Amino acid sequence: MESEEKYQVNGVSLERIRNRNELRVVKAMRSMLPEQEGFCGCRVCIEDVYAATASNIPAHYVQFGAIILHPKLPSEEDLMTILAESFAKVREHPNHSVADKEPGPPQSAKA
Ligand SMILES: [Zn+2]
Repeated sequence: MESEEKYQVNGVSLERIRNRNELRVVKAMRSMLPEQEGFCGCRVCIEDVYAATASNIPAHYVQFGAIILHPKLPSEEDLMTILAESFAKVREHPNHSVADKEPGPPQSAKA
């Protein structure tokens, strides 16, 4: 799988480690989005919330010195707190003017 190969080092796929944090953000976003009253929900805003959250998660995916790689994950509570802050930040300061807004699916529509 090509996307998996991109994350290989010396034949070892690091995608699983990467995905653990990233997938948690995606899942948490899905569960919190319906509660975000007044949130724009377009592609730009969704991507901004994701990027802001992912970059605020501790970047220590791996504990050095451990024989087995243990992805170091923030607690569920930490993740939700960071995500709520990201939603609030993007809602207050969307990365586009209202006129720029790209047409996006309404947040309730699910493909
Ligand atoms: Zn938007």
